[in-house]
Amino acid sequence: MKKSSLLLVYTGGTIGMKHNPADNTLHPFDFSQIIEEVPELGKFALKIDSVTFDPLIDSSDVEPSVWARLAGVIHDNYDDYDGFVVLHGTDTMAYSASALSFMLGNLGKPVIFTGSQLPIGVPRTDGRENLISAVEIAAAKNPDGSACVPEVAIFFDSFLLRGNRATKVSSENFRAFSSPNFPPLAEAGVNIRYNREFILPPGRGPLEVHDRLDTRVSILKIHPGITPELAETFILSPAIRAVILETYGSGNAMVRPWLKDILSHARSAGKLIVSVTQCLTGSVDMDLYATGKFLSDEGVLSGFDSTTEAMLAKLFYLLGSGLPREELISALSRSLRGEITTY
Ligand code: ASP
Repeated sequence: MKKSSLLLVYTGGTIGMKHNPADNTLHPFDFSQIIEEVPELGKFALKIDSVTFDPLIDSSDVEPSVWARLAGVIHDNYDDYDGFVVLHGTDTMAYSASALSFMLGNLGKPVIFTGSQLPIGVPRTDGRENLISAVEIAAAKNPDGSACVPEVAIFFDSFLLRGNRATKVSSENFRAFSSPNFPPLAEAGVNIRYNREFILPPGRGPLEVHDRLDTRVSILKIHPGITPELAETFILSPAIRAVILETYGSGNAMVRPWLKDILSHARSAGKLIVSVTQCLTGSVDMDLYATGKFLSDEGVLSGFDSTTEAMLAKLFYLLGSGLPREELISALSRSLRGEITTY
């Protein structure tokens, strides 16, 4: 039987960093040293090849151009590999995994992001476990030969999470990610247990890459003391086509004539305003309170239980698709890649 094959794409991040005594900070080092640190990878009956980004980046430097490169690498190698593991810094991993989930249409193979909180060369690193399990998951097949996880996911500290449901919840715990509104796709203990009922079916048809993203989106977090000037800049700037409003609770904000005015101007200017909740769990429901109803009356759309990261990626993707406004609005109320729960 032909050996399964995987492509490891190393973009940077703490997993591959080393302490630089010159400035006392962490810097990326090259991929061969990662493999040396994880000889266990050689024990899998797998062919593992790698691609290293040049330059390697701390993921705080991620830009949509990096996502386009990543999508391009996956596309160009799609027929030659059974799965892909992306080594990526944790800071923006949820943004990148969300973006790739929209940029890769008809995905039928696993794209598993992982990284670590401690560099792979240090004795207590979490990187070794994360990498080994991510590799096993990316190579896992169903009895019929199809991939167990044909979607973009994040593996971290025993849990496999849907990429566009995940968010970074800790800057120091090994459990750095959570997907508060969606169950894990798999859990790694003695065995890796897949929650098959939550895993998306594989795409039908050839892989599509959607790399025309429109980044004219702002994120405005509603907070006590917010000023009309600040809201106006984030919402009415001509450079902005869509706004993610991070609202209180089930989608609420202060009822103020100035906010009503700004939202009504935004609507006339054809901007999209989408509400996501500031809460870690739960969904937007603007019909619950007068403070939410006020927003929906002004044309604010529900982001349901989306993370901010997923909504940003979805808007970049949808605005970049050139769809007419009505179709954009309709697509925002639907789950395109399992990113929201609608009832
Ligand atoms: N700053 C690092 C990065 O995101 C943090 C990490 O990898 O955990 O690349």
